[in-house]
Amino acid sequence: MCRRDEAGLFFAPSKEPTAARLSREEAAKRVCARCPVMVECREHALLQPEPYGVWGGLTAAERRVVLARRRRRDLELKKAARSASTIAAAG
Ligand code: SF4
Repeated sequence: MCRRDEAGLFFAPSKEPTAARLSREEAAKRVCARCPVMVECREHALLQPEPYGVWGGLTAAERRVVLARRRRRDLELKKAARSASTIAAAG
């Protein structure tokens, strides 16, 4: 778990080269994959949202993608609900 000896895997040191970052993030994700609280950790990081580091098996960039998808999905659901209520009111 990230609270112990692997804590350095989860956050980038300053000016980390890209290849080193990718390798470190993959190592962190392997730790997350074995973690019993991965789902809860990921949701926490998405809800905060946490801007840096690997949380719940996702990098910061991956969390931004998930959040963007969730926002799009929520907008589509709201649009569908508005359409349904308009149709119901007209019918
Ligand atoms: S899932 Fe969260 S708590 Fe578990 S190792 Fe990864 S960052 Fe740490």
